Amino acid sequence: MGPTRRRARRPQPRWSLRARVRPAARTAYRRLGDLGRRLLGPGAGAAPAGPDPETPPWLPLPPGGAATCTVCRWQGDAFDGPAHVELSVCPRCGANGRDRFLHWCLARRVDLGPHLRVIECSPRLGPAYRAAMTSWFFYRATDHDQRSHAGHLRLDLQAIELPDDCVDVVLCSHVLEHVRDVDKVLSELRRVLAPGGHLLLQVPVLQGRTSPPAAPEVHADATPVHWRFGLDLTGRLREEGFAVDLLGTEELAAAIRSGDDPWGVRAPEFDVPDLLRTFRTTGAADDLVVVADDAAARRFGFVPGYQFLTWDCRVPG
Ligand SMILES: [Zn+2]
Repeated sequence: MGPTRRRARRPQPRWSLRARVRPAARTAYRRLGDLGRRLLGPGAGAAPAGPDPETPPWLPLPPGGAATCTVCRWQGDAFDGPAHVELSVCPRCGANGRDRFLHWCLARRVDLGPHLRVIECSPRLGPAYRAAMTSWFFYRATDHDQRSHAGHLRLDLQAIELPDDCVDVVLCSHVLEHVRDVDKVLSELRRVLAPGGHLLLQVPVLQGRTSPPAAPEVHADATPVHWRFGLDLTGRLREEGFAVDLLGTEELAAAIRSGDDPWGVRAPEFDVPDLLRTFRTTGAADDLVVVADDAAARRFGFVPGYQFLTWDCRVPG
């Protein structure tokens, strides 16, 4: 199971010289070894560093910083890459926009502590991140085919070999679109989550309503895409018995309220007019809960707002 989306064409962002040069410099470092190290300084180009295991996510994030990573607490002037959910990357730990938003939602919506039993389906981030998560929680990374995101546990989400009510949090980002039988997966996730537990779910939301891809769609790690989800996913989650909120940013909420589209240049894979229209006309706007104001969205890199959505699905009890 491979969650990353690399299919997207690059948007046309407002490039900064810094954003263009830094990734190229890291590549040069890897290729040139000692010469690169002398040019760029110690640490540049090394394997991504994980979060500090001594600093759990239930502690407040440090103040200040034009850019702050919600995963590893790195602070600096700007994330690498353009403002895009997949392409804006923390220079320290490699977290992209959706990784940072998922962890922001986790800290906002779940009463965190070392007692939590956490499962993460095919996490994008590697060993340093997983080691930190393991130090903070009873944490297991899972994967089905163990190809591109090999995990601690091999689990088929359509038939999870775990007992009922044994998990407090499931983090599931960009996996569900690769599963044929979505109802079976949601039923299984609901079954293994304990009362009061949370499923924090992210999928690519490129259009207003769910449909299969019009043409065969395969991500770079050869995993086929079975579904292009829309805002009606909320209803399916509620049918499984979850209490559901759709978490987003104030920038998105303001665009839905005003009817104005503030994004002049949009990533071409997102049908923004259709998304905004569906929010307004189907009642999906009532499901939206703002978890990041404009200042937080800028600081943590949750822009543009139409690209940042997480479903918080709580098990009653
Ligand atoms: Zn980071």
